Amino acid sequence: MPNSSYLDYNATAPVRPAVVEAMRAVLEQAGNPSSVHRFGREARRALESARAAVAMLVGVAPDQVVFMSGGTEANNQALRSARGPVVVSAIEHVSVLAAAPDAVAIPADAEGRIELPALERELARVAPEMVSVMLANNETGVIQPVRDVVEVAQRHGARVHCDAVQAGGKLAIDMTALGVDFLTLSAHKFGGPQGVGALVVRDGLEPDAFLRGGTQERRWRPGTENLPGIVGFGRACELALADSDWRERTGGLRDRLEAQIAALAPAARVFGRGAARLANTSCLTMPGVSNQTQLIAFDLAGIAVSTGSACSSGKVGPSHVLAAMGVDPREAASAVRVSLGWASTAEDVDRFVDAWGRLYARTRRPATDARPA
Ligand code: PLP
Repeated sequence: MPNSSYLDYNATAPVRPAVVEAMRAVLEQAGNPSSVHRFGREARRALESARAAVAMLVGVAPDQVVFMSGGTEANNQALRSARGPVVVSAIEHVSVLAAAPDAVAIPADAEGRIELPALERELARVAPEMVSVMLANNETGVIQPVRDVVEVAQRHGARVHCDAVQAGGKLAIDMTALGVDFLTLSAHKFGGPQGVGALVVRDGLEPDAFLRGGTQERRWRPGTENLPGIVGFGRACELALADSDWRERTGGLRDRLEAQIAALAPAARVFGRGAARLANTSCLTMPGVSNQTQLIAFDLAGIAVSTGSACSSGKVGPSHVLAAMGVDPREAASAVRVSLGWASTAEDVDRFVDAWGRLYARTRRPATDARPA
């Protein structure tokens, strides 16, 4: 859209043009990957080549990748395979929290990282079968110490699931080096289509699917595969790996945005600034201005941003992530999330900063300045 800026990549990223092309080719050609005729064999080839691309993104063997309908399904599948108690971080996405409603939740520190001493204590107390900790938080972008979590969990005999939906395509991921048993990915957060993702499974784990049906995806996920989506997912992975300076470019834009906001309002707070963060994410407050007011003003200015909570639920409410970090609810209510990505430009950042500055100045103006119309 002309004169508009899309700065909500953590909700969903625009699909890369080369992904659209790859998907179009599949949509124009019949073929079920389970059919034995040549159309089926061609579809199977496309499926397996996408699987190899996804595997390459996270450094595993292709047969560890199980295609699913997205991050929500993969998180549910991973957590439902736990037969005993589960421990999660309190800042997980709702698809993890809701899939394990009885889980013990570990709080975060003031920078938005899971509290490792609290995790250690709860593991000793609960002796869980599974621990679930995300790689990067969707609201703050804060990167979690997953390798340390694995080390602690293994000492207590627990498996680890890692929701890497926000990290996929944005951070270099080596699942084997991380040491997790399950890893969740979703295509639409980094230039692939919506409605497709993967649960990546440690080598040697046996399927325990909650869907019943055919033998697709080694029985982990029965049902005819979403081939156009999967091919788009694979292409997005290839592009993410090829575009290696993405992080530097986006990080530069994000830092410029934060520096300009700090110059306009030194009291504006950026959550998780003291921690390692995704290069594309900034969760920041406009002191004294509610995020509802901000979202409306930005929308009128043609700018798409969100509150963290709106990202997952479609409605606006208090952020459980900021609450888990101990942020005062009034301050949390003035936070919006800006998230950039592959097509973001300096003009997008400048448009946002300009709209931010105008709204902030307007709300600062003393009431006596207001002139009757
Ligand atoms: N996990 C995280 C951290 C997310 O940010 C999201 C989406 O917002 C999901 C899981 C759910 O992924 P999907 O939209 O593919 O179901």
